[in-house]
Amino acid sequence: MSNKKILIVEDEPSLVFTLQDTLESEGYNVSVVSDGEAAIEKTKQIKPDLMLLDLMLPGMSGYEICKKIRAMKYTFPIIMLTARDQEVDKVAGLNIGADDYITKPFGVKELLARIQARLRRASSYSKSGPLEVLKLGNVKIDLKESEVIKPNGVIHPLSTREVEMIQYLVERANQPVSRDELLEQVWRYEYSTNTRTVDVHISKLRAKIEEHPDDPHYLVTLHGVGYMLKIN
Ligand code: CA
Repeated sequence: MSNKKILIVEDEPSLVFTLQDTLESEGYNVSVVSDGEAAIEKTKQIKPDLMLLDLMLPGMSGYEICKKIRAMKYTFPIIMLTARDQEVDKVAGLNIGADDYITKPFGVKELLARIQARLRRASSYSKSGPLEVLKLGNVKIDLKESEVIKPNGVIHPLSTREVEMIQYLVERANQPVSRDELLEQVWRYEYSTNTRTVDVHISKLRAKIEEHPDDPHYLVTLHGVGYMLKIN
């Protein structure tokens, strides 16, 4: 049984009832609020492990709440609950710091799976703290400063996207990662992108982090599969 704390921010009583009942029967410690002010107060008070955040709320919207929570430097996963066909909103939500979204009406199994996946990722981060520096041979990757320092002293700045790519690849180090997975996890739900986007970014990233980008040693291509970051 889990004793993780989940804060539900939702103003629809019937949905709250179902969510609370389901999550409590899974052993989660559930708190419920129905607006933004209360969500922020409750966050400070209980420091939840995860938040389920409705987008359409009276007063402060789900977006504004999410932004405020992130501005307060809380890093717990936030899963947004959106109504059907709010794709534009979904992208905006992910861009302001939500980790995932789920469209109403949703199945209990799907929701539980998303929650478990987010909590697992969050705890694998916090065990070692956020990764700040990674060494690939003689190349130093400083994720905090968003730069790569080559052995000859040349510094290549990293874009936010490149930092996210590295973080994701490190999380999945020594395992195959498909282009689709990178699109989903790093580019999230930006539909204008395709697997070619991933290839272009991988090759730019290689030029920065590999000593011999044409013969990559760490960020390797697995033909027919995708990529793999090989680290010891
Ligand atoms: Ca609502």
